[in-house]
Amino acid sequence: MNISMVDLKTQYHHIKTEIDSEVLGVIESTQFIGGPKVVAFRENLEQYLGVKHVIPCANGTDALQIAMMALELKPGDEVIVPAFTYVATAEVIGLLGLVPVMTDVDPDTFNIRVDHIEAAITPRTRAIVPVHLFGQCADLEPIMVLAKKHNLYVIEDNAQTIGADYTFSDGTRKKSGAIGHFGCTSFFPSKNLGCYGDGGALMTNDDNLAAAARVIANHGQSKLYYHDKIGVNSRLDAIQAAVLNVKLKYLDDYCAARRSAADYYDGAFSGIDAIKTPARHPKSSHVFHQYTLQIPGADREGLKVHLAEQGIPSMIYYPVPLYKQKAFSSNWNGGELPVTEHLCNTVISLPIHTELANEALEKITGTVKLYFAG
Ligand SMILES: *Cc1c(COP(=O)(O)O)cnc(C)c1O
Repeated sequence: MNISMVDLKTQYHHIKTEIDSEVLGVIESTQFIGGPKVVAFRENLEQYLGVKHVIPCANGTDALQIAMMALELKPGDEVIVPAFTYVATAEVIGLLGLVPVMTDVDPDTFNIRVDHIEAAITPRTRAIVPVHLFGQCADLEPIMVLAKKHNLYVIEDNAQTIGADYTFSDGTRKKSGAIGHFGCTSFFPSKNLGCYGDGGALMTNDDNLAAAARVIANHGQSKLYYHDKIGVNSRLDAIQAAVLNVKLKYLDDYCAARRSAADYYDGAFSGIDAIKTPARHPKSSHVFHQYTLQIPGADREGLKVHLAEQGIPSMIYYPVPLYKQKAFSSNWNGGELPVTEHLCNTVISLPIHTELANEALEKITGTVKLYFAG
């Protein structure tokens, strides 16, 4: 039995006929940039997310950068981010000369918290980037209220959570990425909606922001050869759009498959005190981009080795707090955020993807349980 963190090959074989015909169609058309496949994907994703505008671009990191450029954030402006996240979130902040202000996260959901955000607001704060980590939404309703009160922009980093729903206290349900001023996502192959190369998108309900983002993603060009702003070159190519058009139809099934693997894990680990299984926030559905355990009292390296000996991969997302990355040394005052530190030292992610068979789940959970029994 071959167990991997993600299994894109089996997934491809299930949709091979459709994918091959779509991709070959693009090659035959030779319309590799722009064109009907990209337009169709943009419209399909707008409909799926219930959002007014989707702006496809080259990757998720670009999406974040384009959002911050479209919002006209200026050097020295402060942007609040969680300290426990993938580097891309803060990288573009640094790249644009903005100041990443890193806050602690929730010990149960791993997500940024409104109380920590509020404590981090200064007169220079301009935006908040809630990252929907590992497959569930940060608690956005109070964050949107706080942002409105302080006149701040909210840019959702939705790279790991596309397809999840967030329920507001009045019962309204919205898709993650369709709630803030901008949502940003990635179609990196291993993401929940992954293409066969790099890809990304922004989403917004604001007509002006959408127009600004489109101009920036296309060399700051308002009409052909008229450049109003310094922009970037960031496009989703037609082959990737063709792949995404097929895979978007299966996104809900893919999320359900991940959730059912997570349910299996939860059940198998429920009696083991040394293992803390991932909490599910009542307002968000969980699409399990990662299945991440906390094992505070245990030897994490030992578990990794024990699993590897049985051919089971595992990963540490993320071993180092953002503020301890060398690249951000100038943004760090030497203080530590306790929950972020704790998570960096105690998390371990198990294989989770759309093709996990019960035998694989049995083997993984059995091997983990043996470690904690021994
Ligand atoms: C993957 C990811 C990104 C960046 O996406 P790319 O397409 O790889 O540039 C940004 N933020 C988070 C949280 C991610 O997981």
